[in-house]
Amino acid sequence: MKLPLRGGCQCGAIRFEITKKPLTLYCNHSLDSQQETSSAFSMSLLVPRDGFKYLKGGPKTFEIKNETGKAKKSALFCEKCGTRIAHDTEGNPSISVKAGSLDDRANLKPVGHIWVKHAQGWTVFHEDELIYEEAPDDGYFALMERWAAQEHA
Ligand SMILES: [Zn+2]
Repeated sequence: MKLPLRGGCQCGAIRFEITKKPLTLYCNHSLDSQQETSSAFSMSLLVPRDGFKYLKGGPKTFEIKNETGKAKKSALFCEKCGTRIAHDTEGNPSISVKAGSLDDRANLKPVGHIWVKHAQGWTVFHEDELIYEEAPDDGYFALMERWAAQEHA
C-alpha cells in the first residue's frame, strides 16, 4: 500500500490520513460488526496509533463493548453523516480503521476473516485466507504476519 492513505466520512466533514504502514487487514463477521455496518461484515485496517491523524474535523465517540470486556473501546464516527471511521481500544498500540472509509478501496485484500461462525451463509472464503471461528487468540499475530508477507510479495 502506497502511503499516505487518505480517507474520510460520507459527507466530507471528516478527513484523515494514514502515514505509517498498516499492520493488517481483515474482515470481521461478528454480530456486532454486522450491526455496526448495517451489512454483512466490517473491514478492519489496523494502523499504528501514531500513524493516524485527522486532516479535517474530528469524530464523535461512544463506548462499545470490548471482546474481552476489560479494555475501554470507543467507536469513532462522524456526527453529521454517521459514517464509522474507526474503533479505538484503550491500551492498544494500533487503532482499527474501518477500511471502507478509505478513498482508494480498489485493492483492499484482507488476509483473513474473524468471527466466521456468524458469517452470512453465502460468504465464500479463499483458500489462502486465515479463518477464525471467533476472535484470534494470538493477539492478531498471524494476521499481521500474513499481511507483512503479502506486502512484500
Ligand atoms: Zn460525515
